[in-house]
Amino acid sequence: MMLSRLKATCQEFNAQLIAVSKTKPNEKIMELYDKGQRAFGENRVQELVEKHKALPKDIEWHMIGHLQKNKVKHIAPFIHLIHSVDNLALLKTIDKEANKNGRTISVLIQIKIATEESKFGSAESDIENLVEEAKLLNNVEVCGVMGMATFTDDMDQVRQEFQNLKKSFDDLKTNIFAANDKFQEISMGMSGDHMIALEEGSTMIRVGSLLFGAR
Ligand SMILES: *Cc1c(COP(=O)(O)O)cnc(C)c1O
Repeated sequence: MMLSRLKATCQEFNAQLIAVSKTKPNEKIMELYDKGQRAFGENRVQELVEKHKALPKDIEWHMIGHLQKNKVKHIAPFIHLIHSVDNLALLKTIDKEANKNGRTISVLIQIKIATEESKFGSAESDIENLVEEAKLLNNVEVCGVMGMATFTDDMDQVRQEFQNLKKSFDDLKTNIFAANDKFQEISMGMSGDHMIALEEGSTMIRVGSLLFGAR
């Protein structure tokens, strides 16, 4: 079974499996839940809110998609980790909404590693500035970085992009987060490239179609 195989692989690499359940119905999520999976990822706020409402409360919900400022309030009460923070205005909104809910929200900084144009994420040069600002906010915790490789069959290119993300993480750790144990996550790797990602230092893989079938 794919879940147990992926879990074993993650264990071997000391990484966490995020089951990406976007577009999939609650029954499918419950099948994995009943086998012990608790971390699920979604990329749309409305779908995330509906699933959170309907499903068991010990599920850890991960927001992995592009997030608009005006939608943060809907997920702020319960979200476990936001992987897709790529600008200061968004970060400040998350801080404000977290404060309103009396909690701290964990986030990852999405870094643009793909060479193709369409992907979201912060350009490397802007990142140190962004995380320096983040350190001044009391209700967000920057726990690491996230990236998506180019959609390509060229696995050498994908590996290179993951290596770049690992390098960005290492630089941030050294320059800014040396004294912060919570800065430890590298979210990279999907169904098609998770093995390469794990080999290159991923701590969280986000796997959808391998677990749930094609969308
Ligand atoms: C959909 C999605 C995934 C999972 O993709 P699969 O190829 O189905 O494993 C991972 N990360 C993000 C950001 C996604 O939007």
